[in-house]
Amino acid sequence: MSVVGIDFGNLQSVIAVARNRGIDVICNEVSNRFTPSLVSFGPKQRYLGETAKTQEISNFKNTISSLKRIVGRTFADKEVQEIEKQYLTAPLVDVNGQLSVKVNYQGQETTFTTLQVFAMYLTKMKEIAAAETKLPVSDCVIAIPAWFTDVQRRAVLDASEIAGLNVLRLINDSTATALGYGITKTDLPEDKPRNVCFVDVGHSSYTVSIVSFIKGQLTVKSRAFDRHFGGRDFDRMLLDHFAAEFKEKYKIDVKSNGKAIIRLMAGCEKLKKVLSANAQAPLNIESIMEDRDVASMMKRAEFEELAQELISRVEAPLQKALEDAGMTIEDIDAVEMVGGSTRIPALKERISAFFKKDLSSTLNQDEAVARGCALQCAILSPAFKVRDFSVQDITNYPIKMTWQPTPEEEETELVVFNKNNTIPSTKILTFYRSEPFELEAQYAEPESIPAGINPWIGRFSIKNVEPINGEAACVKVKARVNIHGVLSIESAYVVEEVVKEELIEETAKAEGEADADVDAPLTRKVKKLVKKGDLPVVSATSSLDRSLLAELKEKEMEMIASDKLVVDTEMAKNALEEYIYDTRSKVDGGAYKDFTNPADKEKFIKDLNDAENWLYDEGDETTKSVYAAKLGELQVVGTPVIQRYREFEARPVAARELREA
Ligand code: ATP
Ligand code: MG
Repeated sequence: MSVVGIDFGNLQSVIAVARNRGIDVICNEVSNRFTPSLVSFGPKQRYLGETAKTQEISNFKNTISSLKRIVGRTFADKEVQEIEKQYLTAPLVDVNGQLSVKVNYQGQETTFTTLQVFAMYLTKMKEIAAAETKLPVSDCVIAIPAWFTDVQRRAVLDASEIAGLNVLRLINDSTATALGYGITKTDLPEDKPRNVCFVDVGHSSYTVSIVSFIKGQLTVKSRAFDRHFGGRDFDRMLLDHFAAEFKEKYKIDVKSNGKAIIRLMAGCEKLKKVLSANAQAPLNIESIMEDRDVASMMKRAEFEELAQELISRVEAPLQKALEDAGMTIEDIDAVEMVGGSTRIPALKERISAFFKKDLSSTLNQDEAVARGCALQCAILSPAFKVRDFSVQDITNYPIKMTWQPTPEEEETELVVFNKNNTIPSTKILTFYRSEPFELEAQYAEPESIPAGINPWIGRFSIKNVEPINGEAACVKVKARVNIHGVLSIESAYVVEEVVKEELIEETAKAEGEADADVDAPLTRKVKKLVKKGDLPVVSATSSLDRSLLAELKEKEMEMIASDKLVVDTEMAKNALEEYIYDTRSKVDGGAYKDFTNPADKEKFIKDLNDAENWLYDEGDETTKSVYAAKLGELQVVGTPVIQRYREFEARPVAARELREA
């Protein structure tokens, strides 16, 4: 069983596996160390990752990007409508409130929820990992942005289940980075912690995390974000700039044309990257629209001028993270940079100036998150032995519970988990009730979570509560934010006060208990709380219910099988085609010419020609078994020829071996 870590990036994803000699980032089918985070739908099959990238432009209406920005969201979500929509090229639709995409798949208009699309991509991650490790893949750790709410986390867990992945932990991406850092540093202090600030600027999001390290342990002190700050904002800024320029210069409106936008966006991204290492960069796009070629260039100084406002946004989260950690820049021992966009020189300069310190880059900025995930998976997996490293992570948003009051009790809510509460963490709540009751959990500061996401987390019904001896029962409810950062009610139970006789201990006696001079052991009556048995808890959360999950899993497996059939059919067709060309040229004057029975030769060549014609005609699109049958027919004549040839070729070698033996 493989031990896998996945950094699901907004632009591209990275997979790492733990092996005995260490952590390896693995390559996909075209030998890339990262895989485009794209899902595309075609007339016959789905395209996942690299194959989706190759048709991002030609098939843009059926290609889904920004997967992690849209999973677990509703259609009405303000951020989806106002921000994410700008980056998506497939039409978004509302399916019972769930954000979904409408695509043309296998010749039919089909809708999929974004959760399903996310699951499709995960099946690809799984396939890549399985192909490379040649082992089944199930246990994994997936990185998510720390700002993901309960709803988003549950959506990722559901998608993983649909993809057949067993998530040992959903880990906050910056925490994965910190783990990778901590476990590889052999010089961590024993007592006075080393404080490191991790800065991750990716494609869509920016996270700052302050983490304290001592030997064998990391403690996340604080975290701050700009959820809408990343490479794509720079790309869009450039797109606006060049679209305006081309309107003037070429009288074309790039923004009116879907394909042209994608091509210009790709051109801008490339230009931006070139500018990170060069003083100027060209932009050339052939036939962008209306058969027009466009050309321009930009100097780094101009880029920095344009990006001034964007770049200045880098400071607020740094400030906030320091404040929340109760630290100043003097307390920070190192600033570590990760994420592709931290290659932008002006951004680095700004961060360095903020801390008045040189930045470190001891981590691989593109792979640090995935490596940390694989390490966490290895730590959690029973299949692996790693030096333990304790990870103390924290929650992002305070969670409160609310309930209906009873006449004796006026409280109706309580913040059960504060912001920056350690995770995982369990809290026990006490209620006095004579009948079943309900608790609702929600984020206590809705304004702190992503704007369009419902702050509601779940409703929990505590059943079978009844009075004890005519009085309200004392009910204990165990609430837990688990290792994924997801809230659940683990259990509920009644406790009863019972009066017990208890031996007075020697120490108590010595400490001034009236010393009765008797031989019998001294006892006293004490009230004790005794657990009386569990109460059923019915939870309603945003997680999909089991039956729907099973159905979606089945659907996903059907689609995997269908994709595989398309690939296998294509392979059967290619095998036939190759056989025809290869055999014909060899029979017709090539290597096989002396091994074909002259009486058969003419007919065989005719058969091969007929098969070729058939392939271009009615055989162009048929089933795998028909291609295989056709190949079989040809092989009836061909195989003996090839056999005779091979025997002839092998004879001198065999004879020589015999002589030499
Ligand atoms: P996120 O973390 O937001 O989900 P991600 O993990 O996919 O996204 P990364 O792979 O960390 O993002 O970074 C991708 C971004 O980095 C892209 O916007 C890309 O254009 C940008 N980038 C990569 N190389 C450079 C470079 N040399 N100069 C400037 N930007 C770069
Ligand atoms: Mg990232």
